[in-house]
Amino acid sequence: MTSQIEHIPLLNKQFINSRWVASAGSRVLDVMNPYSEERIAQVTAGDAADVDAAVKAAQQAQPDWQALGGAARAVYLDGFADSLKARCKELITLSATNNGKPLAEAGIDLDDAIACYRYYAKQAKALDARQGELVSVEMEGIEARCYHDPVGVVGLITPWNFPLVTSAWKLAPALAAGCSVVLKPSEVTPLPEQVLAEIALEIALPAGVLNLLNGDGEGIGAPLTHHPGVDKISFTGSNRVGEAVMQAAATRTASVSLELGGKSPILVMDDADPAQAADWVMAGIYFNAGQICSATSRLLVHKDVAEALYAALAERMDALTLGDPLAEGTDLGPLTSARQRDVVQRYLDIAKQEGLAVVRDAQHRTLPTQGYFLAPTLYRDVPVESRLWQEEIFGPVLCGRSVASEEEAIKLANDSAYGLAATVISGDPERARRIGRQLKAGSIWYNSEQLVLPETAWGGFKRSGIGRELGPWGLSAYLEVKHLVGPEEV
Ligand code: NAD
Repeated sequence: MTSQIEHIPLLNKQFINSRWVASAGSRVLDVMNPYSEERIAQVTAGDAADVDAAVKAAQQAQPDWQALGGAARAVYLDGFADSLKARCKELITLSATNNGKPLAEAGIDLDDAIACYRYYAKQAKALDARQGELVSVEMEGIEARCYHDPVGVVGLITPWNFPLVTSAWKLAPALAAGCSVVLKPSEVTPLPEQVLAEIALEIALPAGVLNLLNGDGEGIGAPLTHHPGVDKISFTGSNRVGEAVMQAAATRTASVSLELGGKSPILVMDDADPAQAADWVMAGIYFNAGQICSATSRLLVHKDVAEALYAALAERMDALTLGDPLAEGTDLGPLTSARQRDVVQRYLDIAKQEGLAVVRDAQHRTLPTQGYFLAPTLYRDVPVESRLWQEEIFGPVLCGRSVASEEEAIKLANDSAYGLAATVISGDPERARRIGRQLKAGSIWYNSEQLVLPETAWGGFKRSGIGRELGPWGLSAYLEVKHLVGPEEV
């Protein structure tokens, strides 16, 4: 094995029942550094036998984990937060190396993940007090009490763009609820999530409560979604795979939470300050090189401020530093994989064929000589029929259109197959909120961008998914509600 990552000893093993065991899979996958374009590790592509062993361990562990109660489980969740914090520097470097995100962005990810474990530690404690709550019923002499039981064994499948964050959003509420878990990281960025198994050992999490399987969709993902011992799948990733997950779960009526794609709008109204709006537009699309499901990648700008906004954006784009994610001062790293770079490049080729009007693209800058880089790109006056306007690109590409009125902006914003997020920029916060109420999306920011808080829900309308993560809704996703009802007196 060629891993340079010393703290991850066994990438050719699977973490099952609190032990690193040999994988049943025979294939091996390369893990790349998207900046150096070097292989930095190899990871086993596990198979169905690994899934079976992990699910059995989780099934065995679940009843005792549930019986521990929320307050005791909270101690472990705080343990995850403490250990992540203690290993913060090492994990930031690891995320930057495996994912290609600049250090500052990797730091934000880690803070978000830690906040999530802390939040669900509190929710786990609060859950104890909610057990057996009296329900007000109209029928006289009848008593009804409400209980919240864990769903059981859950399969958690994460993508490559925010490994520590997406895993925290699933793992923390699942453990808080009393579920046991089989976690499958993306094979593209498996390195940061390995630390979760190491922490499980460090904090002596009961064996079998967290199992972590390395591998791809074919070897681990599909067998996990089809396994009859898995009561629920929580999946974050593409629509294509999300739909396959849903089909697999449907064959045994297992429940699913799906966090899928997006094509989120950002509305810049006529009363917005173009310079300030430009900062938010930049933050909404070029963070993590645009590889964010909630990237605000459709710009709807009022015609009265359009020229000033495009000028401010061009200035800011020219000032971006592209380069080594580990170097201080890098604003934009490479795309996370050669595959994703090629996917985005195909959209840039389509834009050329369609003759889209360019504000900034590869002609305006010299790219670093190594790494899977693409130039931050901005098109204006993009026709709504263009594939670039309609489809999720998942890269540093922003498409703009001018609008003549608030009504037109709202109509175009909602004219999408997706509904994950949206941003409204206006000089009048009340107006921004009023517009926000008319948008069909799960997260709507006004005069801010990508503000994700553990207390507020995350998830989408329409094709952006099913269910919500974070907040009390994120906990409910791992709970079954039951009522005990009967006469007060014998
Ligand atoms: P992907 O769907 O290719 O992979 C996601 C995960 O699913 C990976 O772990 C992969 O190994 C696994 N997988 C692949 N085939 C599978 C199968 N048949 N059964 C089960 N699992 C399988 O997505 P990706 O390329 O890793 O991530 C990018 C996508 O994720 C984008 O579309 C993006 O919008 C979406 N995303 C959404 C959110 C959100 O919160 N809504 C967050 C991050 C990413």
